[in-house]
Amino acid sequence: MHIPVEDGTCCLCDGQQIETTMHLFAECDWFKQLLPGEFKQVLESIKAKHWKPFKKEIVAAIWGAVIYHTWRARNWKKFKHTIVQAGIVIVQIKKEIVVRLDLLKLSRKAHRCRGYIQKLICN
Ligand SMILES: [Zn+2]
Repeated sequence: MHIPVEDGTCCLCDGQQIETTMHLFAECDWFKQLLPGEFKQVLESIKAKHWKPFKKEIVAAIWGAVIYHTWRARNWKKFKHTIVQAGIVIVQIKKEIVVRLDLLKLSRKAHRCRGYIQKLICN
């Protein structure tokens, strides 16, 4: 399948960089506002941690939200010509995680991570 691409540069930052997966989720200045640090390095450090499964689940949810919102911001800019500020996305992701934590807070696995949940909700 051949899909013509009019402009292959990243629309989220001003770097005039070709939009590759590596750029969008690692090098892009817009993305770095959501998650500073090297994507691969952060994933490796999470994998190496001996966290409780609930904590891993929440971290995975945060990463899923970051990737989802980055892709959505990219599509809104490209197809709706709407700029999505990284700060707005950060607030949205925090709200979504708090809702998720609220739904899970009475579960046994969440009970064992009360301190972690409290820390997430307060930050
Ligand atoms: Zn970019």
